Amino acid sequence: MPPTPVPSLDFHRVQAASPQDLLAGQVRYSPAKSLWLLGHAAGAVAGALFYFSLSSITVFLLATGAVLLLGHSLGSHRLLIHGSYRCPRWLARVLVYLGVQVGLAGPLSLLRQHELRDYAQRLPDCHPYLRHGTTFWRDAWWQLHCELHLTRPPRLSIEPRLAEDRFYAWLDRTWMWQQLPPAVLLLALGGWGWVCWGVCARICAGVIGHWLIGHFAHNAGGMHHVVEGAAVQGRNIRWTSLLTMGESWHNNHHAFPGSARLGLQAGEWDPGWWMLLALRRAGLVSDLRLPQDLPARAELRALTPQPAPAHPSLGGWRDLPALRGQLLRATAGRTLHLQGPGASMPARWLQALTGQKLHVDKQLARLELHDPTVGIVVRGLPALCVAVARRGAAAHAIARALLPAAAALESARVRLTVA
Ligand SMILES: [Zn+2]
Ligand SMILES: [Zn+2]
Repeated sequence: MPPTPVPSLDFHRVQAASPQDLLAGQVRYSPAKSLWLLGHAAGAVAGALFYFSLSSITVFLLATGAVLLLGHSLGSHRLLIHGSYRCPRWLARVLVYLGVQVGLAGPLSLLRQHELRDYAQRLPDCHPYLRHGTTFWRDAWWQLHCELHLTRPPRLSIEPRLAEDRFYAWLDRTWMWQQLPPAVLLLALGGWGWVCWGVCARICAGVIGHWLIGHFAHNAGGMHHVVEGAAVQGRNIRWTSLLTMGESWHNNHHAFPGSARLGLQAGEWDPGWWMLLALRRAGLVSDLRLPQDLPARAELRALTPQPAPAHPSLGGWRDLPALRGQLLRATAGRTLHLQGPGASMPARWLQALTGQKLHVDKQLARLELHDPTVGIVVRGLPALCVAVARRGAAAHAIARALLPAAAALESARVRLTVA
């Protein structure tokens, strides 16, 4: 048997006697899993047919958003499974409890499922069930209604700190029943409509959404890193970053599993990370881990240039006078160099906006304008204003009018993304 090809697996919670152990198994129908989803789907359909109202939809959106952000992303995933930040025990319990409300499993079972998948995906060969490697509808059937029974399940050890926690063990035994307290509360406050939408529809959205993201995040989407030797790579799905609270930056997550921040580059929106920054400001969380705090991984290969160390640049609200100066000089036919478009805009839009005369360097990680004559760098949307201003008098006037808003947005972006 060849040695384990991926060095970081030596410290994994899962240890298999042989990589083959993760391949031999059967996908079998799981009545409990299937009926749990179908029952809630029936409740959600009843809600849509008989209780369609603005208040029900609001309850659904608020409950689903809170449970996905605080529970699944912050509680179950970034804290319980990856320990990527620290917080007081009472807060950890609140967040993990909200994670159980997603309706996927109890906290320790979810951790086991996550770790088994993670371990299997890093091996050179992976069972299609564990890597979402089958057709869309078959994967839906497998993941939503079946379970994989491995012939020789590997050893999985959970730290005593978690395994011996009686609250987590209790949640693990009673996770389905944990939907009762919110159901009773919603029934008292708003009747059956609120239960259908606030419990049944929320669980359907959470469970089906979790599978959908899992399917696409291992099959299609952008990549910044390759984990060499792994059977499947994580993919970044840009358009679901807000809906998933940042969890769909899954290629980043495969590269840096212990990072509390998932959207790592400019324009990679990560609501879970924003929430952690807000909680840190309130003094509730600390020690947020970033990729640079994690041990280096020999098997990690970067595909896109990584952001260079920060250098002094103009862009924020306080730089507005200096930015206006840049705008004035920009019309004088000076050679400028634009690097962009950052991650949130296709490169051809940037070229269309700035005109064919300006040389645009394709650069996924940032949007920056360099003025080599005076050595000034303008970053973010103000860089776009300065670049657009070169196109003529009308463009200049528009850019000048938009500059304060661009600087304010850039200030907000820096506050949100710089740890
Ligand atoms: Zn994955
Ligand atoms: Zn993870």
